[in-house]
Amino acid sequence: MKIDLSVLGRKFARHRQEYEAAALRVLRSGHYILGDEGAAFEREFAAYTGARYAVGVNSGLDALRLSVRTLRLGAGDEVIVPANTYIATALAVTENGARPVFVEPDEYFNLSAEHLAAAISPRTKAILVVHLYGQAADMAAILEIAEAHGIPVLEDCAQSHGAHFGGRMTGRFGVMGCFSFYPTKNLGAFGDAGAVVTDSEEMAETLRMMRNYGSKVKYQNEIAGVNSRLDEMQAALLRVGLRHLAADIEERQRIAAAYRAHIVNPWLELPKKRTAAEHTYHQFVVRSRHRDDFQQYLKEHGVTTLIHYPVPPHLAQCYRALGGKAGDFPLAEKMAAEVLSLPMFNGMTQKEVQYVMDLCNDYQPDVRRA
Ligand SMILES: *Cc1c(COP(=O)(O)O)cnc(C)c1O
Repeated sequence: MKIDLSVLGRKFARHRQEYEAAALRVLRSGHYILGDEGAAFEREFAAYTGARYAVGVNSGLDALRLSVRTLRLGAGDEVIVPANTYIATALAVTENGARPVFVEPDEYFNLSAEHLAAAISPRTKAILVVHLYGQAADMAAILEIAEAHGIPVLEDCAQSHGAHFGGRMTGRFGVMGCFSFYPTKNLGAFGDAGAVVTDSEEMAETLRMMRNYGSKVKYQNEIAGVNSRLDEMQAALLRVGLRHLAADIEERQRIAAAYRAHIVNPWLELPKKRTAAEHTYHQFVVRSRHRDDFQQYLKEHGVTTLIHYPVPPHLAQCYRALGGKAGDFPLAEKMAAEVLSLPMFNGMTQKEVQYVMDLCNDYQPDVRRA
């Protein structure tokens, strides 16, 4: 059996008529950027998260970098970032001229509150939390530290749409919550898209100006902005996706529950669940000391997997100038060497889930394979 990490077409096929109707509505409307669909999606997404405002932008990276810019951070400022995150989180900081200060993860793959406390300096101007793989970070402990130091928190929710911590939705703990709607995310567009949610009217206003060349009134450019608008087509399609998001998350949780109940293999470690957090399983990430061999074994049996992520940002080629070296963040580096994301997508059949589970259970490390 052949199974990919994610098969996006099944989600589309399941709600095909709704998506096609939304697309046609936009095509026929004669209005393609900053119109009614975008405004409606912003209202609906804000309501979904519980935030007062949502501002649509072009991508998750733009949501992040414009949020950092809204805090007016730049040269000389430090922003704390998890050491095991996707490169985009760090890029949002460096693009603004500020310095990412990496912090080791906890056993749930999220920013460790313990290591966080030790990394704060007088130059720390923000803490950028990532809710990796769909599970919220320990927001109680992180907020306590942030508040004690008077440092604002930003959230990278690119993988955590709908994920809770202590009954509160991710994106609602910091001053701004940044979302990506890249097609593979739990709420995915049919192209690039993103959004920032906030309760601050002032920040929402700044973000709205910034995404549209820095102007509130056409051709009156108050600040040097960028072009990062969420277009009407993506907004209309996202409105359809948002209606099905809760059911999509439940389906992912059912697949994860099956994986948890049936994968039993001493060579594989299943992801740990934080009691206070609701996991939405953007990825189902197992760990193995024999990861590369395990991935090769799955591939030989038709199952495609991915490593999120093989190179931690401090070791990325683009950040050589920051001076990071192997051994700086042993926990993040160990995770990079051990993690593997199993197939997890909406529309995955019971047969496919069973096939993956059987393969996992049959796995034995094999020196000949490596
Ligand atoms: C996907 C992702 C981003 C970037 O989102 P884009 O829409 O691709 O720009 C940022 N952070 C994390 C953790 C992500 O998974």
